[in-house]
Amino acid sequence: MYCNNCGKPVEDGIAYCPHCGQPTGKAPANRGNGALSSGQASSNAQTIVTVGTPQSYSNGLATAGFVLSLIGFFFSFSFIFQVLGLIFSIAGIVRAGKVNGTGRGLAIAGLVLGLLAFVPGILFIMLFTGSLLA
Ligand SMILES: [Zn+2]
Repeated sequence: MYCNNCGKPVEDGIAYCPHCGQPTGKAPANRGNGALSSGQASSNAQTIVTVGTPQSYSNGLATAGFVLSLIGFFFSFSFIFQVLGLIFSIAGIVRAGKVNGTGRGLAIAGLVLGLLAFVPGILFIMLFTGSLLA
């Protein structure tokens, strides 16, 4: 038979091509070869991890928290963005703990920015009420 990957002739029943190291696409003959089947199993597990990686590493909450805090910073008077930014950032930090820390930096940045974004709004309100009183 021939290797599915590189097309070179390989021995019948062999699981991995000796030329390119890729699986030949043919299941190994079951002759109680434990080493070969465990190698196959770990190769399958690796494939699952690789496929699952992009999904499990994304942290949309952290991104949302940062963006909302940033909006809150520029629209200081509508505190809703800051509040939402803080909520999403905290959720993003929690989520980062579940996805190997992905997005934690962004979520913390969103949290700090969300807190800072309250300052100009509060200052404005103080100035505004002060000017009303004066
Ligand atoms: Zn090959």
